[in-house]
Amino acid sequence: MSGRRPFVAGNWKMHKTAGETGPFVADLAARLPDGPEVAVCVPFTSLAEAVRAAAGSQLRVYAQNMHQAAQGAFTGEISAAMLLDLGVHGVLLGHSERRQYFGETDAALAEKLAAADAAGLDVILAVGETEQQREAGETEQVLARQIADSGAASHAARLTIAYEPIWAIGTGRTATPALAEEAHRFIRGRFPAEISEVIRIQYGGSMKPDNAPELLAQPDIDGGLIGGASLEADAFLAIVAAAT
Ligand code: PEP
Repeated sequence: MSGRRPFVAGNWKMHKTAGETGPFVADLAARLPDGPEVAVCVPFTSLAEAVRAAAGSQLRVYAQNMHQAAQGAFTGEISAAMLLDLGVHGVLLGHSERRQYFGETDAALAEKLAAADAAGLDVILAVGETEQQREAGETEQVLARQIADSGAASHAARLTIAYEPIWAIGTGRTATPALAEEAHRFIRGRFPAEISEVIRIQYGGSMKPDNAPELLAQPDIDGGLIGGASLEADAFLAIVAAAT
């Protein structure tokens, strides 16, 4: 894993009420090992409670989306300033579910990334190919486009990339360590040399306690973005331990 600090983040998606969040985050925060950076990406309604329960610990709280505008007539949306006001540390952008179900484009993501960076939020930017794109031999083309069109290299100081092959998300089908490593190496090569050395790239897609050690042992895999297994503290902490 080189000299880069491992980073493991849980993506809760649309799970856990604010009432469920407090005790869960307090337990997680109390049991975190020293070493890796650890974050939870929680629903908007749980952010305040997660920040409160994580206070004084190393655990970082991320939102799962934000709007690119500073303010305005965007009913139902949340700005970077609103997240910062709650004490939120960062934001997950470009998850494949947002791209697929909510029409999020690389152009919109470029604006969101710029707005988050300007406001002072760290960002996890998710990229990844569909099964169809992989089978058509388009994986590298898709990854290169997602990185370039979102302007990732211009915001690298606050950025972590999450490589999430869409066919592996929530399916129980994990990419083999060799296949994941190949994609991570390709993504790293999309950045100028000085960024490529330091930017962290998480793997996401059915990462569990049993497959995490082998994935995390790959030289270009710097951590994980964990969906299902992050909803259960013991499983999530076992993955964090594998990154330690
Ligand atoms: C995710 O939602 O980002 C994810 C990787 O989910 P899962 O771990 O459940 O495949």
